[in-house]
Amino acid sequence: MTIDWSNLGFSYIKTPWRFLATWKDGSWNEGELTEDNYLHIHEGSTALHYGQQCFEGLKAYRRKDGGINLFRPDENSKRMNRSAYRLRMPEVPEDFFLDAVKQVVKANQEYVPPYGSGATLYIRPLLIGVGENIGVSPAPEYIFTVFCMPVGPYFKGGLTPTNFIVSDYDRAAPNGTGAAKVGGNYAASLLPGYEAHQRKFSDCIYLDPETHTKIEEVGSANFFGITADNEFVTPKSPSILPSITKYSLLHLAQHSLGLTPVEGDVYLNELDRFVEAGACGTAAVISPIGGIQNGEDFHVFYSETEVGPQTKALYDQLTGIQFGDIAAPTGWIFDVPLK
Ligand SMILES: *Cc1c(COP(=O)(O)O)cnc(C)c1O
Repeated sequence: MTIDWSNLGFSYIKTPWRFLATWKDGSWNEGELTEDNYLHIHEGSTALHYGQQCFEGLKAYRRKDGGINLFRPDENSKRMNRSAYRLRMPEVPEDFFLDAVKQVVKANQEYVPPYGSGATLYIRPLLIGVGENIGVSPAPEYIFTVFCMPVGPYFKGGLTPTNFIVSDYDRAAPNGTGAAKVGGNYAASLLPGYEAHQRKFSDCIYLDPETHTKIEEVGSANFFGITADNEFVTPKSPSILPSITKYSLLHLAQHSLGLTPVEGDVYLNELDRFVEAGACGTAAVISPIGGIQNGEDFHVFYSETEVGPQTKALYDQLTGIQFGDIAAPTGWIFDVPLK
């Protein structure tokens, strides 16, 4: 195995082992680790025709002492089960989910990047409806699989702001599946994302689908803004995907930085209140937002080239916790037993 840890991006790399379990007749089998990275599924599978599938994304972090941390994987399990409920899929019991993730990390431990490289092991749990079917109804069988690959830090030379553009498209309906981590939301985001990239923006900003006056999501990440009077503000809406990174930052903003955490409306015509803004999610942790294009108007936050001090402090605090350098709030870090 020869991997250049310092040059990893975010692309598929085959690691030796993945976990695979099947659900049939009302229960999960015990599942197993397998080397086969192809799924052989029925042509009538609901995941293929009707989008009956959901997924998760989390990371394993190499500590200074050589051990491996998972960051709040129990929250990924709970969220996957909420997504599954929304699409009439069976739950994956939390213990089963956590055990599968730990088995996969342990089996592929040589692929967890070294401490200090900034790189991590990205873990992708996936739940899909399979089996013989053609009508619009829940699948008779399900596959739960977990695979992983090493990925580089999102920002190689430090946090760099990028610009975003407000989209005319909606990513979700007011009472639709916006809060569920389902593939359909992502398929729907490909064209808006493409159009934003064509215009040289990092991604698009989605507004609330009901009134189109409030910021909801930044591409496939959550939004936050920091006000001049030290409020850390994130949008609140039933069509936003509840980001685990976002909730962790709300906690750290309050308890480590002494900011006031606020979940509320972020009106597009009130962006002046923010001195810093960013997008957050597992992949990048935090992407500082330089500016937002909205029609003819271009609004700059802290700077188009420099990350703001509070954003940087939050990033350092959260990544320090994830890599085990800073004491974590109770229950945030799960050690992966490697023996
Ligand atoms: C996964 C996801 C996020 C980020 O969630 P994290 O738990 O922080 O990784 C944000 N928005 C969307 C649409 C997502 O799918």
